[in-house]
Amino acid sequence: MVKAHANNRVASLIKGFTLPLEEFLQFMKGAGVVISGSGALHVVQPGHFHPADLDLYAPFGYLEAIHRFLIETTQYILVFDEPYPRSRPGSNAGQVNENPTGIRVVRYYVNTLSGKVINVIETRLAAAPSAVFMFYSTYVMNFITGSTVVCAYPLMVERHVGLLNTYRERIPYKMARCLKKYVGRGFAVLDSASDWQPDHKCGESLYCAETTRVITDGATLRILFGENGGREQDLIDPGLRWKLASRFRCHSLSEADKSFPRSGMVVSRGSALSE
Ligand SMILES: [Zn+2]
Repeated sequence: MVKAHANNRVASLIKGFTLPLEEFLQFMKGAGVVISGSGALHVVQPGHFHPADLDLYAPFGYLEAIHRFLIETTQYILVFDEPYPRSRPGSNAGQVNENPTGIRVVRYYVNTLSGKVINVIETRLAAAPSAVFMFYSTYVMNFITGSTVVCAYPLMVERHVGLLNTYRERIPYKMARCLKKYVGRGFAVLDSASDWQPDHKCGESLYCAETTRVITDGATLRILFGENGGREQDLIDPGLRWKLASRFRCHSLSEADKSFPRSGMVVSRGSALSE
């Protein structure tokens, strides 16, 4: 994906949600807000589906800044907000795809003219991309900053597969709903990196759950876009690193030896998330 393509795709995504392109990109840069979820996947691998809503990830403490931007410069209104995870009976659980551990608050905004929906998600850590690496599969581990498109597992995204990021034997209901949504659109999950590369080196292959990844490593696809964005990529936290959770050993000697539930972790600016 070359720069011009990335630029066009990001511009059409942002304009498609009736946001003022240049002002919004400037706001994203200033506040450290990123786009993730199906919108970011659509930019990285277009053609499968158009995102029904836009997921904006705001760093801890930036909910009010994003609220002011939306209220003052767009036709979006706040529908409701409450701490995550939701407990209200009958609420639309499952709308947000993410594993709750990286998330503090989810807010819903609706555009009174276009009817478009924006989910504003405040992350627990100070760098918004931290929540991305708690998502349930690697094919949604993509994000867009004010100047850069980032895809953590590009070769898998291209093949429409992802590793399942959980240690749980039984997949939680919310995660199963997300899986169903993406399976219906051609994305499948793999239980271990052996299903991707049978002879990979565990703990060394950048597509193995046993390997600790860094956002600046050789597997991550990072594309600078935008005419006025300067020449520097903005990764929010270039030191961001993570290790996926997994349920099985990549190379097991027998069926009995296969199960090996292990939690994952994300480390950003000295703070850690794990599940
Ligand atoms: Zn492995």
